[in-house]
Formats: sequence, C-alpha cells, structure tokens
Amino acid sequence: MKFVVVTGGVISGLGKGITTSSLARLFKARGIAVTAVKIDPYLNVDAGTMNPYQHGEVFVLDDGTEVDLDLGNYERFLGQSLPGSHNITTGKVYRSVIEKERRGDYLGNTVQIIPHVTGEVKRMIREAAKAAGAELTLIEVGGTVGDIESMPFLEALREMQQEVGGRENMAFVHTTLVPVVGPVGELKTKPTQHSVRELRSIGIQPDMIVARGSLPLTPDIKAKISLFCDVPLEAIISVPDQPCVYDVPLLFEAQGVGEYIVRRLGLPSHAADWTRWKEFTARYRQGDQEINIGVVGKYVELKDAYLSHIESFHHCQGHLGVNLNLHWFDSEELAPNSPAIQRLLKMQAILVPGGYGVRGVEGKIRAIGIARERKIPFLGVCLGFQLATCEVARDLAGLTDANSTEFDSETPHPVVTLLDSQVGAHGLGGTQRLGSQKVLLAENSRIRELYGRADIWERHRHRYEVNPKYLPQLAERGYRVTGTSPSGLVEAFELEGHPYFVGVQFHPEFLSRPETPHPLYLGLVKAALSHQEADVTVPASSPPAIA
Ligand code: GLN
Repeated sequence: MKFVVVTGGVISGLGKGITTSSLARLFKARGIAVTAVKIDPYLNVDAGTMNPYQHGEVFVLDDGTEVDLDLGNYERFLGQSLPGSHNITTGKVYRSVIEKERRGDYLGNTVQIIPHVTGEVKRMIREAAKAAGAELTLIEVGGTVGDIESMPFLEALREMQQEVGGRENMAFVHTTLVPVVGPVGELKTKPTQHSVRELRSIGIQPDMIVARGSLPLTPDIKAKISLFCDVPLEAIISVPDQPCVYDVPLLFEAQGVGEYIVRRLGLPSHAADWTRWKEFTARYRQGDQEINIGVVGKYVELKDAYLSHIESFHHCQGHLGVNLNLHWFDSEELAPNSPAIQRLLKMQAILVPGGYGVRGVEGKIRAIGIARERKIPFLGVCLGFQLATCEVARDLAGLTDANSTEFDSETPHPVVTLLDSQVGAHGLGGTQRLGSQKVLLAENSRIRELYGRADIWERHRHRYEVNPKYLPQLAERGYRVTGTSPSGLVEAFELEGHPYFVGVQFHPEFLSRPETPHPLYLGLVKAALSHQEADVTVPASSPPAIA
C-alpha cells in the first residue's frame, strides 16, 4: 500500500483539492487502483451542519455521509464513488478516541494526542485505503501547514511514513503560492521557502512542490525553489491558474509528474491513456455557441456553495461543445418588475438548486413562475423541486398560499410537508433522507427517456416531501409525477405542455462526471439550445467560477 500526501502552504484556497484530484487521475490513467481521502482539521464530525457560506457546498456520498466539497472533486476526477470513511475530521477522530476511552480500551493509560489521537488518524487512513482495495491512496490535508488544527494530522502522517517503510512508500507533495509582485511582474519564492521550512520543522521533507499562482514558473525560479527546498528540479511543478480545472491533470502529465511519482514509489508503470479526457477538454474549449443559464439561489456570492451544479454544466459544455454562461440571481432581488426579473426573462434555461430556510423562497417561486409561463427550460433540484410544486399549486391549481410547512406551518395548503411516517416520537421534524436511493421512472416520461432506463439510483439530502393528498388536484393541471421511490414518495415531476419543466427531489448534481455528464443537465442544456425567445446578447453577470 502506497501513499501520496498533499499539504498546503502560504495561504488556503490554492486549489489543493484540484491538485489532489488531478494527481489521483494521473494514476487512474495508468490503470493503478487509486483512491483519495480528505482530512478536515475542524471539530465538526461531518459537514452536514456547516453553512455553505463558510465552506461551500455540502457534498453527499452514496452512503449518505455529508462531506467536504473536495470529495466531490475526487469523485468527478476519478469517476468513482467514495464512502464516508474517506473524509476524516478532527471531530470524527476525537469522537472515536473518547468513545474508546469510555469503554476502557486504553487500559488505564493517560489518553494523549500522541500516540492516541495520532494512532486513531493512522488507523482511519489505513482502513479507508484497505477497504478501497487501493494500490495508492492520496491523502489531502486541509488547512495550511503551521495551523494548530492540522498539527496532529501532520504528526500522524510523519509517523506513518516511517511505519510504511519510508519515502519509497509515502511521498509528500506540498502546494504553495508563488506570487507575482511589482511593476515588472516578478515571481517571488520566499513564501514557498518559508512554508517548506515550516514543514521540515515538523519532520516532513516534501518530495514535490506544486507552485500555484497567476503565472507559470520560469526556469530560474524553478531552480531557485529546487535549491532552497532540496527538491529535485523535475519535481518543481508549475500550475498557473487554468480556465478549466480539467486541464490540470494534463498540465501535470506534460511536466512528467505521473512518471516521476510512479518511479519514486515503485508503482507498476503502464502507459497513461488520456484519449477521452483530451476529447472532453478540447470540446470544452471549442464551443462558439453561447447559452445563457440563470441560476437562482441565495448563496450566490460564494459560487462554491453551488460547486457541483457549476461542474455539471461544465460537463455538458465539454460534451456538447457549447459555451455555457452561468448568470447568478440572488432570489431576494427577484421582486416583481425588478431589473433582476428583466434579466431573468432573457435566460435560455433556469436552474433552481436546493437550499434550506425561508429567506429568498418567494423570489425562487417567482423565478419558477417565469420559467413556466414563458416556457423557459427549467430544472428544479430538491428545494427547487419543492418550490416548483408550490408554484404549480398556487398558480395553476388555484391553491392560494400553498407552501411547504418548512416555511409556513400555518399554510392552508401544505403541498410540501413532513409526512406522518416521518414525525418522530417527540413530534419533532423527522431526520433527513440522505444518500443513494432507488427511484422508479414512469413510462413515456421525458425523464425516463433522458436516463434511458426504468429505475435509477440518486443521492438525496432533504427532510420535506410532496404531500400525496394534493396529487390528484395537481395532476389535473398537468403536474405529472414521473419518478417515485419504491415506497411511493414523489421523486420527480414534469409539467405537460412545457418544453422542459422538470423537478427532482434528489440531487443529480452529485453524480455528474466529466466523462458522463448527467442526463438531466444535458436535457436542460439541449432544451436551452432550442429555446426561441432568448436574447443571446446578454453579458454574463460573472464568469463561471473555475479556480
Ligand atoms: N429544505 C428542503 C428540505 O429539507 C430542501 C433541502 C435541499 O434542498 N437540500 O426538504
């Protein structure tokens, strides 16, 4: 079992997740069984309770674990699903150590960070790697070297390097920033030097340095970093900002990273196959047709809150060879006749993603109403699906003030609600429906045609459900239930007589991959291509967020 550890220095937000995912892909391209683990040095046990404003989207795995968004990057780059054990947080480690202590597992010993917490970290990493059957495991350490929070993890990894047989079996890749300063745009290596010194002070010598920044490294700068940091010149890798994250593995490959690590770790060396990946990135760039897609949410200032949706559109772009411009709409600004509404009318497709809490809900319902009336292709995901149900109920079925009981517990028409079966013994809200669950698709439906099959598995993360009591009334107005759970819960609907008006209770964005874009996003984009009313001259409000 071999390991590559990815650490970060200087500042956070350097794209360690993309670095880790891209490195992992180098080995997958060589037919090596590879997996990836993310260490998050925060005390939360999982990301489930975290505000998307702070950490970006909460990603959900097949097994229902709510994890850091980097796991989404790993899954997309590797084209493989990962279990919850691949996200190790300080909270999980401490919880396990304290449970063991209470059970008396430590036999009266004083329980300490070293060796007990570090021991637990090593155990969790080993078990994840073993269960995955991986020849090589990538381990990304969140945070920046020098943070108090990440110290126990780095210490555990330092110890582990010795235990697995040294540097032949565990390599450290350090990601740093090489900023450009001054009027002539000089590249500065000092932050990298300091950060490597910090890493060495805790006993870790990097085997490779990935230099991030706005400009590529010049040969003299590479030589300088190599000299000061004791890392061979061929292992100083330049990764300037890329317009498309899926170019990063190819950038690594072009600099010999795959071959270098394979040699260092004595991994089996097969020729790398990039055929499909290169086709994807070439098509991603080639598009000359512009398509304007409106995304209506409430966390729009932080695009990472919608990362998987953004990536799902990127996958469509690389598949269809069209340019997708995402326009962000803050749902609170969508007041009647507002400038934001005027802009929304010009969109060729509208996505309303998931969310929690009442803020901005009425604006989302207004956006959905526009998509329905103007026949703009629409996809509603989770909360977007629930609100589309409310919109149809209010405007088409005449159920005034229909709502989800999440937002109005007194609504006369609770078309979205907690079902009796969900309400627990204390009368409190049921727990969330999480993870991959089976969905049965109706015959002769658009959704079944898009998937090309009768049953599918999709990931869930929600609490409220469509109220079956209202289905007959909604059906009369063209609301057709086209997906159900095996127990009969509403999973998907389509509106009859609309070119593309699809709502799904589950989260398709978590399953889209560059090589296999998700059918529901492809369906939306294809419908957008033929949307007539569009005024394609609208400038993008902001470019798609690609680090
Ligand atoms: N707030 C809604 C619910 O709990 C939708 C959740 C979501 O969009 N992920 O059911």
